[in-house]
Amino acid sequence: MSEEMKRIGILTSGGDAPGMNAAVRAVVRTALNNGLECVGIRRGWSGLINGDFFPMDSSSVNHIINKGGTILYTARCAEFLDAEGRTRAIATCKLLGLDGIVAIGGDGTFRGALALSRQVAEMGQKLVVVGVPATIDNDIGCSNYTIGFDTACNTAIECIDKLRDTMQSHERCSVVEVMGRHAGFLALYVGISVGATAVLIPEHEVDFQRDVVEKIRQARLAGTTHFMIVVAEGAGSAVEIGARIHEAIGIDPRVTVLGHIQRGGAPTARDRETASRMGYEAVMALLAGKGNRIIGTRDGRLTDMDMEEALAMEKKLEMYRYDVLEALTAKG
Ligand code: ATP
Repeated sequence: MSEEMKRIGILTSGGDAPGMNAAVRAVVRTALNNGLECVGIRRGWSGLINGDFFPMDSSSVNHIINKGGTILYTARCAEFLDAEGRTRAIATCKLLGLDGIVAIGGDGTFRGALALSRQVAEMGQKLVVVGVPATIDNDIGCSNYTIGFDTACNTAIECIDKLRDTMQSHERCSVVEVMGRHAGFLALYVGISVGATAVLIPEHEVDFQRDVVEKIRQARLAGTTHFMIVVAEGAGSAVEIGARIHEAIGIDPRVTVLGHIQRGGAPTARDRETASRMGYEAVMALLAGKGNRIIGTRDGRLTDMDMEEALAMEKKLEMYRYDVLEALTAKG
């Protein structure tokens, strides 16, 4: 066990994700129960720069395991991209006597963590950072799963199921835009789960005729009278796709952009349980004297990986899921 680990900071950064609170709770409780002091840092890296912190005890995390959002708030912080901003953050760490930080967020958050730890090393100081992956995009290379993904999928599915009822009654076409600027995990998992007619994702170059018009035509031939098109925001605008469908086929699609609703809500069992284990493992890594690691899941088990190595990893959407979707759509 690390002799030097006495006080840790905890922050959430980047886009919020349901389950972040469960991770915060797990970190705080594990730390306190192992004799560490805990400092909450508000609004991600900007809280570290501006000295926005508070001591956390066991009761600071009462009744949050079931809540979406993050009690620590989250932010994007342009100042942290510069060495000058990070120097201020390092000064706060020194003032607080922090030996370690648990940073909960996406890959941007971890890039920030890596930049911070490098700068700390250059300055001859000691501070280690452990990252916990939380983003509804599920796009962290070193981890099969990221906190928030399951809840976001379920939220989108619930909304689309409701849309489906009315689309079916009116025999309409619905175009639904889900989040995912660079990754189609959410769109594809949701598309499979709602039985979408077509799913458009950034990883698969869209051929409008083949991927939309022909799919609707085939479904129609098979007797379907309502159509559900799911679009990841990075694959195109739902409004534009709706207009193109109207132009090409003459039907009048209804367009829904789910937007930030996908980020909220009570975390599912999967997100609470994963967040709890990841938060626990993050503190265990710090206590074991491991520095600059990112917690991840691989083959159902938790891992911790060197931050630099982890950030170099790319995560590819298995296109086999796209094949499954194709195989399950109605064709005339
Ligand atoms: P999400 O995946 O939900 O967007 P994220 O953690 O990737 O979450 P970002 O906005 O990309 O969100 O990053 C969060 C913050 O991390 C940034 O606002 C910035 O302060 C810091 N950050 C990102 N990249 C770097 C970098 N290369 N160097 C230093 N800090 C960085």
